Amino acid sequence: MRTEQTAQKNYLSKVAQEIKPSGIRKFFDLASQMENVISLGVGEPDFVTPWNVCEASLASMEQGYTAYTANAGLLELREAISQYLESKFQTAYDPKTELLVTVGASQAIDLSFRAILNPGDEVLVVEPSFVAYAPTVSLAGGVPVPVPTSHENNFKLMPDMLERAITNKTKAILLCFPSNPTGATMTKEELEQIARIIEKHDLIVLSDEIYAELSYDHEHYSIARIPEMRERTILISGFSKAFAMTGWRLGYVAGPQVFLQAMLKIHQYTMMCAPTMAQYGALEALTNGLDDVQKMIRSYRQRRNYFVKACREIGLECHTPGGAFYAFPSIRATGLTSDEFAERLLEEERVAVVPGSVFGSGGEGHIRCSYARSLEELQEAIKRMGRFVQKYVKQ
Ligand code: PLP
Repeated sequence: MRTEQTAQKNYLSKVAQEIKPSGIRKFFDLASQMENVISLGVGEPDFVTPWNVCEASLASMEQGYTAYTANAGLLELREAISQYLESKFQTAYDPKTELLVTVGASQAIDLSFRAILNPGDEVLVVEPSFVAYAPTVSLAGGVPVPVPTSHENNFKLMPDMLERAITNKTKAILLCFPSNPTGATMTKEELEQIARIIEKHDLIVLSDEIYAELSYDHEHYSIARIPEMRERTILISGFSKAFAMTGWRLGYVAGPQVFLQAMLKIHQYTMMCAPTMAQYGALEALTNGLDDVQKMIRSYRQRRNYFVKACREIGLECHTPGGAFYAFPSIRATGLTSDEFAERLLEEERVAVVPGSVFGSGGEGHIRCSYARSLEELQEAIKRMGRFVQKYVKQ
């Protein structure tokens, strides 16, 4: 292994060599070396996990629950997740055969692809999308195929765009509503239109519903609720976002037994089980933490309303994100690319945002701003962004 080049050529897999590092990290790294930066780049809640959840986890350790759990996760937790999904989102799953507790939604996404894909299978990824989707498809041997959405349609998935992307190799489609990075949501009627196409082409659906709780304008509707979709949908979610538990690394996947059995096999060899102490925390979050979630939702909604209005006032066109905690304003008026905008904004005004281009097709011309920041920070960020936009729009 003499040089880095030789090392890459001889020792690394082709897929590992070809995968690009996340474009978000670049900005985190730059911003962390600067002073007085307001970061709207981070995709995580600004709340600390409620203390009763931490206490339940500590208590589990005090009681000596420090060993592995069942591969699929604590049965009490799976039962609690099952009840939560049914009462909150009207999607029912058998905790014994149709639910698996994972290391974050991230592992659930990875497991799903590894369980369903053969080399060359195409997976439709609705873009702009969470940066991990396309690489995870590739790592599982599949081929990610982007289906773009656009500002003009409030970043909703349009039936004609979906039809156009389907080939005879298409095996699955990955949906994420409310969306990271756009905050877009889909109504029942809109999902029903999409479902008809999915059924016609016999596709599997992966529905990442990690932001489901954080829906501000209408009740979240899961595609798994559509009777014809239930048997072909793998529902992915977790505790990171709505319960402010990103560091706990706890998620879950629910779906028909045939998929879950395959995932469980991979999970038992590669992960064994999700962390035991985190599972006890999650059980408390579902049992006694839903009021805290409501408080956080009210706070995000208030900040969304402020931030979107303020973006428009400083000259950035911005659709109203119905969920998650991201705004995705257009920066076209400035004449800059999203990369240039993010770099210069950081350099000149010390505000970190993420260029839309890192989220795939349809992302260029936009920036992602996380409004999970204090109102004071958002106000200061808007002041700085306003100054910046004025400078470039005038030229
Ligand atoms: N799915 C989406 C859409 C996300 O935005 C994220 C994190 O940013 C994840 C999944 C990963 O969540 P987790 O922390 O549960 O692994």
